[in-house]
Amino acid sequence: MTTIATTSEIKDLTKIERIGKLLSQLITSSNSINFLIRFKKNSTGAHSHVRGLGLDSNLEPRQNSEGLVGQIRARKAAGVICQMIKDGRIAGRAVLMAGPPGTGKTAIAMGMAQTLGKDIPFNSLAASEIFSLEMSKTEALTQAFRRSITVRIKEETEIIEGEVVEIQIDRSVTGGTKTGKLTLKTTDMETVYDLGNKMIDALNQEKVMAGDVIAIDKTSGKISKLGRSFARARDYDAMGADTRFVQCPEGELQRRREVVHTVTLHEIDVINSRSQGFLALFSGDTGEIKPEIREQINTKISEWREEGKAEIIPGVLFIDEVHMLDIECFSFLNRALEDERAPVVIMASNRGITRIRGTKYKSPHGIPIDLLDRLLIIGTEPYNESEIQQILTIRCEEEDVDLNNDARDALTSIALKTSLRYAIQLITTANLVAKKRKATQVDVNDIRRVYELFLDEQRSVQYLHKHQEQYMFNEIITEPDSTR
Ligand code: ATP
Repeated sequence: MTTIATTSEIKDLTKIERIGKLLSQLITSSNSINFLIRFKKNSTGAHSHVRGLGLDSNLEPRQNSEGLVGQIRARKAAGVICQMIKDGRIAGRAVLMAGPPGTGKTAIAMGMAQTLGKDIPFNSLAASEIFSLEMSKTEALTQAFRRSITVRIKEETEIIEGEVVEIQIDRSVTGGTKTGKLTLKTTDMETVYDLGNKMIDALNQEKVMAGDVIAIDKTSGKISKLGRSFARARDYDAMGADTRFVQCPEGELQRRREVVHTVTLHEIDVINSRSQGFLALFSGDTGEIKPEIREQINTKISEWREEGKAEIIPGVLFIDEVHMLDIECFSFLNRALEDERAPVVIMASNRGITRIRGTKYKSPHGIPIDLLDRLLIIGTEPYNESEIQQILTIRCEEEDVDLNNDARDALTSIALKTSLRYAIQLITTANLVAKKRKATQVDVNDIRRVYELFLDEQRSVQYLHKHQEQYMFNEIITEPDSTR
């Protein structure tokens, strides 16, 4: 099947290509830079119902709001941290969300991402991921850090061919300032100013008046008045490609258009270090990046910062299952958090006192004490029955599944007896069973059916104990702590 790209896709690609070229000149040129790819903060999958932290204007959590239920203290703490991040007062700090499985640590982190909005980058990473990448652990962490730092670069506008631009016009008049807009179709900034100046001359010489539509011959500079609408412009258009049409504004033309481009440090690194430039961002083939390149980029960004051209915005890096990191990674984190550009690192762990990977020592959450000491710790607690029911109701709405009251009560009891996550997974499967019997509403029998079909963790362990001898390698005695 042939896929036809839509016009907007083609436009996006052209824009990205153009911008990528500009960005790749970063090290050698301090001229223009433009950008492109925004971090997507839409939470997906299991957390798609989370739309924020559900706080009121005083940062007080509502019991059930924006997809989040209960966990009041943790949400309030998360809200305070978000506020500090927005105020730029917490860069380089680290937070640990600690609590039993399924108590909403990731959900709250997703809520934070939504609360921070699109201007602050939020990246998440499962600690185990860094062991599977084709690069060193510290390089993977460095990339994750730099992905979580945004650089905002101010640029005087550059105009794409054929684009309709709007330029602010200010006119000082005795007793006040009038502002108007000039819209013209042009190819580049030079032309804008050239046309603008010619138009202003004509206005000053009172050859034309504000509101008149004029035709300007780009080569000869000749100006013809067309009246007060663009209706006659078509006749002129046929005369020559060099003719430009402008409606005279009231006032003087000023170069006021400033565009702010947002790009992460990692994107700048990739574009400047791969032969295929910005395309490497799409292929995912980023590989290891040389420290010299990063140094050059840091120097350039610092220069721009001093000149007032760039601003660094540290975002958030969320590291889930942080106990899966090893001692090497923890020392890296300790050092990396000292950097003035460091993002806020939010870690999550459901482990109690456990071994620090790569050592024989144990510590709370498997995190070395020196790192633990610098963390702000947010605890999450198990839910009560009513909270579980509310979460399940929200998930049913999200998945468009209609449960009758008995089915909802049964699912809540299952969640209390097993786990919230297990009960959430039964929603879709129970709905499939209901659909199979052509029902639009899930009833208690559908829930029972899927409960019998799919084992929860406890029943799975019981089954294993009973039938262990029938499994392969059952004779191997595993170490009590497998997080090596
Ligand atoms: P783990 O330690 O196992 O990683 P976790 O604490 O990160 O667990 P989550 O993954 O956030 O737990 O929660 C499990 C499921 O329950 C997710 O679908 C999540 O969106 C939902 N959930 C958890 N807490 C809440 C809450 N307070 N409000 C709404 N949904 C929640």
